[in-house]
Amino acid sequence: NRKGKTPRRLPPKKASNSQKDPVGVYCRVRPLGAEDEECCIEVISNTTIQLHAPDGLKANRNGEFKETQYSFKKVFGIKTTQGELFEDVAKPLVEDIIHCKNGLLFTYGVTGSGKTHTMTGSPGQGGLLPRSLDMIFNSIGPYQAKRYVFKPDDKNGMEVQNQVDALLDRQKRDSQTTVPKTPTTRRIDPEFADMISPEEACKADGVDEDSSYSVFVSYIEIYNNYIYDLLEETPIDPIKPKPPQSKILREDQNHNMYVAGCTEVEVKSTEEAFEVFWRGQKKRRIANTQLNRESSRSHSVFIIKLAQAPLDADGDNVLQDKNQVNVSQLCLVDLAGSERTSRTRAEGSRLREAGNINQSLMTLRTCIEVLRENQMCGTNKMVPYRDSKVTHLFKNYFDGEGKVRMVVCVNPKADDYEETLLVMRFAEMTQEVEVARPVDRPICGFAAGRRQRNQAFKEELTRRLEERGGPLDGESPTVLNQLLQSFPPLPPCEISGPNDDVTLPRLIEALEKRHKIRQMMIEEYNKTANMLKSVLQEQDSNLLSKENFIQEQRGKLGEKDKMLQNQKNEIDRLEKKSKMLEYKIDILQKTTNIYEEDKRSLQHELESREQRLQREMSEKRRMEARMQGIVTDSKLKWEKECERRVNAKQLEMQNKLWVKDEKLKQLKAIVTEGKTENRQPQRPSREKDKVPAKRSASPSPVPTVRPDPHFLRPGSVSVASCISEWEQGVPQSRRQGSQSPPDRRKRAQGLPDSLSRRRGRCWAKEVPVQPTGPPVRPLHRRSHSAGGERWVDHKPNTNVDLDTVLQPNLPNAIKVNAPSEKALSKCDKYVLTHQEVASDGEIQTKLIKGEVFKTRGGGQAVQFTDIETLKQENPVAASRKRRSSETGPDGEPKEGDWTDVETRCSVAVEMRAGSNLGPGYQHHGYPKRRKP
Ligand code: ADP
Ligand code: MG
Repeated sequence: NRKGKTPRRLPPKKASNSQKDPVGVYCRVRPLGAEDEECCIEVISNTTIQLHAPDGLKANRNGEFKETQYSFKKVFGIKTTQGELFEDVAKPLVEDIIHCKNGLLFTYGVTGSGKTHTMTGSPGQGGLLPRSLDMIFNSIGPYQAKRYVFKPDDKNGMEVQNQVDALLDRQKRDSQTTVPKTPTTRRIDPEFADMISPEEACKADGVDEDSSYSVFVSYIEIYNNYIYDLLEETPIDPIKPKPPQSKILREDQNHNMYVAGCTEVEVKSTEEAFEVFWRGQKKRRIANTQLNRESSRSHSVFIIKLAQAPLDADGDNVLQDKNQVNVSQLCLVDLAGSERTSRTRAEGSRLREAGNINQSLMTLRTCIEVLRENQMCGTNKMVPYRDSKVTHLFKNYFDGEGKVRMVVCVNPKADDYEETLLVMRFAEMTQEVEVARPVDRPICGFAAGRRQRNQAFKEELTRRLEERGGPLDGESPTVLNQLLQSFPPLPPCEISGPNDDVTLPRLIEALEKRHKIRQMMIEEYNKTANMLKSVLQEQDSNLLSKENFIQEQRGKLGEKDKMLQNQKNEIDRLEKKSKMLEYKIDILQKTTNIYEEDKRSLQHELESREQRLQREMSEKRRMEARMQGIVTDSKLKWEKECERRVNAKQLEMQNKLWVKDEKLKQLKAIVTEGKTENRQPQRPSREKDKVPAKRSASPSPVPTVRPDPHFLRPGSVSVASCISEWEQGVPQSRRQGSQSPPDRRKRAQGLPDSLSRRRGRCWAKEVPVQPTGPPVRPLHRRSHSAGGERWVDHKPNTNVDLDTVLQPNLPNAIKVNAPSEKALSKCDKYVLTHQEVASDGEIQTKLIKGEVFKTRGGGQAVQFTDIETLKQENPVAASRKRRSSETGPDGEPKEGDWTDVETRCSVAVEMRAGSNLGPGYQHHGYPKRRKP
């Protein structure tokens, strides 16, 4: 049997369903008492109330005006009737208990706020408790089991007794009860009469008619954290009261808490149930007076247990199966007043009691708080149910499943304001706690409608029996009549006389015959009945199997549903995953883009570097070529220099030789003069006239402008080099076009041809000057007024084009690659563009500037005034420390460099031998040195 277990025998702790409902919190505002004046509560809507701080309190708090609002599932104003309250609050709980679900309803509030009024009520104004009982009996009334069919075991469970035991128990009870009970006689206590008027009666729908029901009630009081059974049958000794024994809590196999050994009274009607309740109330009152306790400090718990079990397949009796018994319960709790200790004005042991009362309410508060935190924050804190009996008893309502409702009662009077505020806060918080919703559990696998069918069958049978019995009473013939007629007719039974021994034996025989027939008919009837019964049973079992099949299909459907749900979940999961992957792809795409960009930029850089390398290579090649050129240049130059020196030496030697010759000749002449007196020396007359006698003794074979002794001094390299450079620099045509004077002189002087030609070349442009006297050097500037400066731009052919962006701009310049007299005569400025390799390997361009002067002799002279150094730099190698190419470590010019410049410009410096070349360029060669 699939439903072999009672619904209460659940898997432990957590309910199987995930549906949860919040604790239903309702607020009831009682009317203001006659003696109270100030009202501090206002019902704003049917879900909200507003609290106003009373005047006195406002004054205490610096006139601060405070209004607070609290919302609940529903708010009941002062005009709410008990019936209306029941309709909203308790009715659903009663419906639940009938449908095998547990419920808990408690009233909470300050003493005097109407908790007891709400829960119990008064005659004519029955509270939730009598109304709940009434509704239960109205609903299950016709389906109640006979007394003692259900019997509580001592473990919070319920057993089903067999009919004999139940009957015996009933007889025992009847014999014990002194007052004979008749259903019509009602012994109603005036104290609880008219709790509910008959027109207010309500009834639950959907009561299972194929079950049998029984109601049990218990009534306990929790005072000072002790549990007392208010229904315990103990003789109360009015003289020497025995303190009641407290009970303990136990947990049953379904994890429900119960009061061990608590009396459970089976009740069959509202009246009976209420009578029991009233009995408990009375006992409570007596105990309170005897023990000097205050009832407002105790919690009273009235438990209504409803046992239900299915009828057997015949619908006759309750199924004798403990597992099929279902017990649900509704706890109605009237909590102690929630006021603080100070307000109770308790002293001594009373104070301790009050403290305990508050303690248990405090525990309730803490439990609710922890529960709420656990549920809202997903924490798993331990809920301290065990700290007080009240919370411990209702542990499974919060941990397991069930419906929990609370009616918060408030008295709007000003005195209660502060405590009411606390009550409101607790109530609002309680609303946030959720309790697992109880699930529906069908009870039995038997065909539905068994009770009705049974009833109908019984009715039909009696009807038929009645029909049969009709003719016996001399009424119209029926089936029974016909049956009787089918018996052999009775012989006449009149006895003719005392000796009539025929009539009686005949009658006896006839009757015996009839009896036999009757017996046979009964047998037949029984047979048929049995057959019918078996057929019916077969039908029943068929029906059952069909139902089972349906159940099975339902189960399959559920499985399919589950599968569908699983697949849906899977789809959800996959969708999420795909979204995640898309996101990842996006990121990867972006990363790829970044890398590609990087790659492009790196490629670009590589290209530019390659280009630069190429450029540098070509530069290097160019430089190499230039260096080669320079090397060959200087080689050539030195060769020429050597030749020139050799020649100069030769010339000198020849001069010396000539001088000696001359002296010899003069000596010879002197010697011969003695012999021939008018003999003249072989000298040109011009020279003889002009040169003094002393000097004529050693006339220079070379016509020198400056007969300065050291002009021809051997080793005067710079001058010699100047000459040689000039020789190289002067165009051939010019040299050739001015040959006559030296030729003439050579011829006159009888010099070797080669030498005289050289000299002739040397001095080709020389304007004849005075062979004697100081060198001509009156430098006078040209007039600039004629029209700005004119430049001779001397760029030797050996210069390389550097493609420099910044180039000297010389408008109207005469560009020459070797200086010429003609060019110089037209200009007043001179610039030589000289290139050399600096120490860092770069080509350095120097613009050596000078001013052109006319010499007295009619030649041109240049006086250097400035040197501009232009230099190209490789930006990459810029960090390299540059070393001056011009100066050595001591700041002195390097000879090699200067030799080069010197030799280059010497041509330009002096167009005529004999000008003050040396000091001129020495002076202007170092413009930097002049700077301070
Ligand atoms: P509690 O049980 O909270 O201490 P009670 O239920 O004993 O308070 O109520 C105190 C008094 O107030 C009682 O006399 C009761 O009749 C009256 N009372 C409480 N609530 C109402 C109400 N809603 N309507 C009329 N009277 C009420
Ligand atoms: Mg009360």
